[in-house]
Amino acid sequence: MTATSDLSDFRRRVRDFVQEHLPPDIRDSVRRGQQLSRERTVAWNEILARHGYLVPHWPREWGGQGWTVSQQLAFDEEMCTHDAPELNSVTFDMIGPVLVRYGTDAQRDRFLPAIASGRQWWCQGYSEPNAGSDLASLATRAERHGDRYVVTGSKIWTSYAQYADWMFCLVRTDTQAKPQEGISFLLIDMKSPGITVRPIVGIHGWVVFNEVFLDAVEVPVANLVGEEHRGWGIAKSLLEFERLKLARVGENKRRRARARAVAMERHVDGRRIADHGWFRERFAELDMRLMALEANAARFIARSQAGEPIGAEVSMLKLRGSQLIQRWEELTVDALGEDALPLDPAALDGSGRAEGLAAIALTASSRRFLSRGYTIAGGSSEIQHNILAKQVLGL
Ligand SMILES: Cc1cc2nc3c(=O)[nH]c(=O)nc-3n(C[C@H](O)[C@H](O)[C@H](O)COP(=O)(O)OP(=O)(O)OC[C@H]3O[C@@H](n4cnc5c(N)ncnc54)[C@H](O)[C@@H]3O)c2cc1C
Repeated sequence: MTATSDLSDFRRRVRDFVQEHLPPDIRDSVRRGQQLSRERTVAWNEILARHGYLVPHWPREWGGQGWTVSQQLAFDEEMCTHDAPELNSVTFDMIGPVLVRYGTDAQRDRFLPAIASGRQWWCQGYSEPNAGSDLASLATRAERHGDRYVVTGSKIWTSYAQYADWMFCLVRTDTQAKPQEGISFLLIDMKSPGITVRPIVGIHGWVVFNEVFLDAVEVPVANLVGEEHRGWGIAKSLLEFERLKLARVGENKRRRARARAVAMERHVDGRRIADHGWFRERFAELDMRLMALEANAARFIARSQAGEPIGAEVSMLKLRGSQLIQRWEELTVDALGEDALPLDPAALDGSGRAEGLAAIALTASSRRFLSRGYTIAGGSSEIQHNILAKQVLGL
């Protein structure tokens, strides 16, 4: 059998799985663009864990499946296009692989099985009010007192901290060293005394972000990952784990399907939106961009599977993939016209009962705002442009 037919069989197996096991209420919420509660997200995590699909990219000894990069990306794409919830990448793609690579035996034994069960939720405490793109200027302090660190400072934009059991956190342990050299990587129990989580309600109506205040929080030294003052290298290596995923091909396809569904159903001037020239033109342009993105992603995947370095050029996947998502969301809102204006908070949290076109319409504006974050999180577009200009084009 060829590699292509192997991959088609693999895709079919994943598709059969998701069609059989994804609870319809969760699928409908995802399709409508509603925010899922922690309970419903964990319920789906547990189904995936039972079938070996939650952490397939981890090493086998910790529950991984030994899949190729192509299989991993095909899996993500099938999940997306069949309306499975996005997994919390902070938990499964970031801290899990970090602990596999840098954790002590005790840290791995303690955390990896809990994460792989789908029940333990992590958040990422990197950004601070004055440290975003320039992350190395972070100021949260950790002072060592015997076998504990005492951590004081604040984090911001911490996604889903309100659900999290644990936070992996960058803290300054040496104020005299160069900025990158005095940073350590700590695992902090979110139930520790001195932690306050203050949710930030987004313009989209979702509560994704939080401020996290740390007031003399005691953290055992056993929760230090890697060496003291050497956390920057670990923080940077996190990016490697997901560089190829950042093309977001599956998420783009899901949005393409939504734009198409609206255009087929909504009528203006007696014609379907899909038959209006302006829509067809924009749809065709975005569709071609998506094909180009997919082809480029395939190029990087082939390089990665051949064991070749993928290089800084891969930044183009993040840049284009995130911009394209925003353009699909805009097309959907424009196709809905005035129907996208009403905001029904019940539609956002899943308690609303709208069906079909109305269900998409009620969350379309919210989703459009939500997608603004894609060109900021994980390195803003300007930062990606800088990388491409300096490291690829030599400007
Ligand atoms: C959806 C989402 C989820 C997030 N989740 C988390 C999380 O879970 N944990 C966490 O720690 N953080 C999280 N963040 C924060 C994110 O990492 C920061 O927003 C990001 O690093 C940018 O930092 P900033 O917001 O401070 O903006 P700034 O760095 O202040 O940037 C402001 C503007 O200046 C531009 N800019 C900055 N530096 C340069 C430069 N050198 N050259 C050209 N232009 C520049 C930026 O592109 C941007 O347009 C999240 C953000 C978003 C949007």
